[in-house]
Amino acid sequence: MSIATQPQRVLVIDDDQTLHEAFRNVLTPLRIDSGSLDAMAADFFDEVDSAKSAPADLTTFELDLASQGQEGWELVKAAVAQGRPYGMAFVDMRMPPGWDGLETIEHLWEADPDLEVVICTAFSDHSWDQIVGRLGRTHHLLLLRKPFDKAEVWQLASAQTRKRQAEHAAQLRQGELEAINQRLAEEIAARTVAEDRLKHDALHDGLTDLPNRLLLTERLARCMERARRHPDYLYAVLFLDLDDFKLVNDSLGHTIGDHLLIEVAQRLAGALRTLDTASRMDDQTPARMGGDEFVVLLDGLNTAGDAQRVAQRIHDAVAQPLTIAGYEITVSISVGMALGRPEYSVPDEILRDADAALYHSKAIGKSRVHLFDDTIRQQVLDRVRISSDLRKAIPQHQLRLLYQPIVSLSTNRIESFEALVRWEHPELGTISPAQFIPVAEDTGVIHELGKWVLREACQQLRIWHDAFPAAGHVSVSVNVSTKQLAWAEFPTFIQQTLKDTGLAGRDLNIEVTESALIENSELVRQMLQSLRSLGVGVHLDDFGTGYSSLSYLHQLPFDAIKIDRAFVRDMKLDGEHANIIQAIQVMASNRHMAVIAEGIEKIEQLVQLQALDCNSGQGYYLSRPVDGKAAHAMLAGDRPLALSA
Ligand code: C2E
Ligand code: MG
Ligand code: MG
Repeated sequence: MSIATQPQRVLVIDDDQTLHEAFRNVLTPLRIDSGSLDAMAADFFDEVDSAKSAPADLTTFELDLASQGQEGWELVKAAVAQGRPYGMAFVDMRMPPGWDGLETIEHLWEADPDLEVVICTAFSDHSWDQIVGRLGRTHHLLLLRKPFDKAEVWQLASAQTRKRQAEHAAQLRQGELEAINQRLAEEIAARTVAEDRLKHDALHDGLTDLPNRLLLTERLARCMERARRHPDYLYAVLFLDLDDFKLVNDSLGHTIGDHLLIEVAQRLAGALRTLDTASRMDDQTPARMGGDEFVVLLDGLNTAGDAQRVAQRIHDAVAQPLTIAGYEITVSISVGMALGRPEYSVPDEILRDADAALYHSKAIGKSRVHLFDDTIRQQVLDRVRISSDLRKAIPQHQLRLLYQPIVSLSTNRIESFEALVRWEHPELGTISPAQFIPVAEDTGVIHELGKWVLREACQQLRIWHDAFPAAGHVSVSVNVSTKQLAWAEFPTFIQQTLKDTGLAGRDLNIEVTESALIENSELVRQMLQSLRSLGVGVHLDDFGTGYSSLSYLHQLPFDAIKIDRAFVRDMKLDGEHANIIQAIQVMASNRHMAVIAEGIEKIEQLVQLQALDCNSGQGYYLSRPVDGKAAHAMLAGDRPLALSA
């Protein structure tokens, strides 16, 4: 848009009415026709050829007139308020009786600081210096001496209004540029925040905001690098895992489970902060590996002993009971620790060893700290060996079953034999199921193994039933792992095995542990129902070792509960465990379930269990697990049980 297309607003403040008329003549084109405009232009611009038309960008004006300073001031304020400020004002110096020119200008600039002002003075008025001295600036200010030259007036009006318009345009442009700058700065800031957030998220765990595996691995790699350069430098890795966290999740819900993890993360970080000064470590990184697994990197330890002490303190700090949403939760946490060694070349190696130490710590009884050492290293190697050799165990006939009688505590009769598998390894000797069943579960061998055990136990019972028709009531109890319960064809397989061996459903009991139930309660419940519908007895093994044991009994169908030997071992007359056993006894009989006590090792325990009306028992005092031949002899009555002695 051309600057001159809009008429420029001009204000004249002068008490002399004849001057008003003169300004009107010079500045208002409406009052002149185009011919006279040319004439006027010719008047102002000597060079203008009157034969030609006026220049296309000739400024046109919109003129307002005021006789007093105050009146002019009102007009300026109104123009600003309407958003149509004057481009310039001609202000007379002397305007009695009101404000003089200078006072007027002061007011005008108050209302519109960028107003271009031309002071109209006589020679006798103030000098320029005096004017500037009074008004305090030269900017936006010009002096026009009377008597006026028409061209000068026109040129001043044109120049000053255009100047203001150009300044205004520049201001707008500058404002726009500033706004663009501001927006850019904001966008850059927002992008930086987003990038930082992304970087942070990539290296931290979403739930607890602790460093994640990636960040931990980076820091661990730095520690290893440092250890290579400085042989005295010591670092350690703690692998922590909540014991039975799955039970918390399953019984109290995932929200509480999440809260628990956040709380543990905070305790971990808090414990490390207080350790800082105590152990003078360079750095410690607590990290979450996922699930309920945490890792702490202890960087720059003084001694190996410090690592053990620090680990124990962290363990104790985290394992304090806490309340979440009204639930009192006791956090039991197991810790495995590995000290940096020169032979470690990548972070995964030390993490693997700390994890193995954790595994060991859980295996020997949970809620403790265990250091990775040569024994564990050997166990890890054994496990690797077991895992690879186990596949050959069945085809090479290295498995065999032992049988441990389960005896009625009221009639002293053998009710069942629990089949307990053994592996006769050609080089490692007899290996206990506690060692190889978990490996079999991990590698999937458990399915073949479980089928073999079931068939073998049923065939054995068939032989005994044939040999001792009077022992027709004796059943066989077979341990079944969670993985087997997940096999949809399991009931069909059992049905077929019973058929092949000519046994009835009641001749077989399967024993499942509580941990099996936690994994997938609904599927397991359906599986147990189908087994029961075959007439097979379903027994809950190792009862009391789980977290919220009793809750399963409401939902799941059992024929008998086997009380874990830990209760029997700790049972004392009038003691807490005896009370628990009695409570289980009452609750079980209400639900028509039998109670079998495991691990009876002493006559006192036997007597006490009999007094508690416990149905059946099993344990070394009655008989150790024996091979098929010895069990056969028991049934033949050749070898009386301790109970009947
Ligand atoms: P479990 O089912 O609780 O079996 C009882 C375990 O306690 C047996 O250990 C038995 O030898 C032991 N025991 C019996 N009486 C006493 C006693 O008075 N005192 C003590 N201290 N221990 C006693 P075992 O044979 O080493 O079996 C360990 C676990 O391995 C079994 O615990 C069972 O869960 C599992 N297992 C055994 N055979 C099989 C199998 O064929 N399949 C599966 N999936 N698991 C099996
Ligand atoms: Mg068992
Ligand atoms: Mg048991």
